[in-house]
Amino acid sequence: MWPFRPLFRHFRNRFVAAIFNSTNSVTTWFKTIPMTLIRVGIGHDTHRLEPGGPLRLGGIDVPFDRQAVGHSDADVLLHALTDALLGAAALGDIGELFPDNDPANRDRDSGQMLQIAHAQVEAAGYRVVNIDGIVFAEKPKLKDYKPQIARRISELLNLNPDQVNVKAKTGEGVDAIGTLAAIAAQCVVLLEQQTSPSHTATGG
Ligand SMILES: [Zn+2]
Repeated sequence: MWPFRPLFRHFRNRFVAAIFNSTNSVTTWFKTIPMTLIRVGIGHDTHRLEPGGPLRLGGIDVPFDRQAVGHSDADVLLHALTDALLGAAALGDIGELFPDNDPANRDRDSGQMLQIAHAQVEAAGYRVVNIDGIVFAEKPKLKDYKPQIARRISELLNLNPDQVNVKAKTGEGVDAIGTLAAIAAQCVVLLEQQTSPSHTATGG
């Protein structure tokens, strides 16, 4: 039987080499496929409420006898959204981009700030997959305004309406939200980035 041993060894080595080479080329082939990188960002904001009105929220004016107070137009939802966008792309936060000691930002339209932040996110190669936001307000009732706010956000960012969702919660009569001393908002944003095929792939 001994003459078969070297023959066996020869074919076994050829087989192992074939498997290794094919595995290698499959790996190389995978490297040529563009990959989608996804990233998530979170934003939170709070503003004091004081007598006045209307309430600037999500880029629209909601009829109310109180208004949010801040250096800009104090749009709590757009501020949370801007922070979520910047956070997802690792581009810092709204305070770094629009310092509140800069006179240029006094009474500034938060819709404009959101668009500037969004342009930076797009310049970094990302595009928005979806946005989900919550407004924490004891009053006014936001049921009738949520669709309008979501639509306004989709217009500001050139998105389809189904990429934006806005929810509302009360403060159950307690703490700053529940006693109408403050309004708050939270937002989550998902971004995706198309990565180009690896340069080393074609080189093997
Ligand atoms: Zn704010």
